[in-house]
Amino acid sequence: MTTATGFDAIVGQDAPIRLLKTFIRNGTHPHALLFTGDGGVGKKTTATAFAMACNCLTLQSSLRNRPPFDAIDACGACASCKKIADHHHPDVIHVAPTSAVIRIARIRELLKTLALKPNEARRRVVIISEAQAMNPEAGNALLKVLEEPPDRTLLILTAAQPMDLLPTVVSRCRHIRFAPLGEEAICQVLSREKEVDAKVLAALAGLCGGSIARARARIEGSWLSRRDWIVGVLTDLISHSGTPDFRTWLALSERLAAKKDRLEDSLEIITMWLRDILVTGCDPQRVLNRDRMETLAAAAEKAKPAALIEQIDAVEEARTALRANTNTRLTLDAMVLRMARTCSL
Ligand SMILES: [Zn+2]
Repeated sequence: MTTATGFDAIVGQDAPIRLLKTFIRNGTHPHALLFTGDGGVGKKTTATAFAMACNCLTLQSSLRNRPPFDAIDACGACASCKKIADHHHPDVIHVAPTSAVIRIARIRELLKTLALKPNEARRRVVIISEAQAMNPEAGNALLKVLEEPPDRTLLILTAAQPMDLLPTVVSRCRHIRFAPLGEEAICQVLSREKEVDAKVLAALAGLCGGSIARARARIEGSWLSRRDWIVGVLTDLISHSGTPDFRTWLALSERLAAKKDRLEDSLEIITMWLRDILVTGCDPQRVLNRDRMETLAAAAEKAKPAALIEQIDAVEEARTALRANTNTRLTLDAMVLRMARTCSL
């Protein structure tokens, strides 16, 4: 197996893949699967790999010979595999939210397609990504096919957690949980995709909460240089003794507000950094910004835990307020002034 879209390409999800391979080997396919787990852990890639394996001409003919478990994977080279990998297969249907919602019109359109026989696939596969985006009408409309699945058709729904979906939808699916990825698995995948400095990669893998998608976005978006800028300014400010330097605090607020599209990231960086200073003193193993241990240790010596906790509260309250669309600059100014005052606690 060499294709980048087969089971072989998926890292850190051994249990789900073992189960899917068992379905293929035994020819016992459920009609509906629900993949849950954090964003970027490989749910959609696995769904595509499964669609490919179910329809791979080479694999299906070799199954008669009971191949070893490791060999149960799509060939990546037959006509079916190529079409699926290129998203050109008429019977592998992808449904995903548009403007954060999967509307009933999209599900009705899907039902019409499913009322017809599959064009060419041995098994038609419908992948509904972020199924929690179905509004209740869409979810209820989908129940019809979950209750009476069309011939040779498999539905795969993905979501962060089952409680995000209608219980009636969840109860009709075979539920498969995807674990968050370990740092080693994330480094392994990313180093295959891109040439990134090993130190940078290790730092990002520790900071992305087990999500490859988040780590990828952070590589693309020069997240690490933004973090370095923020922690540089912040560490100077919170280590400052005597009267707080309000002017520099407000300058930080202004620069944060200037990049509104990256504000959520910036505030998360601040929270993680303050949390890490707190954690450094008591449990260094749990530090997230592990590539900056020396700076953290120096900051931890000077910082007062009560002030750090108050500062984290200030940032978290600002994040909540900004999600409710409060005035950005005002909210950030109030946040930094509250943080500044805690330095003289
Ligand atoms: Zn194939």
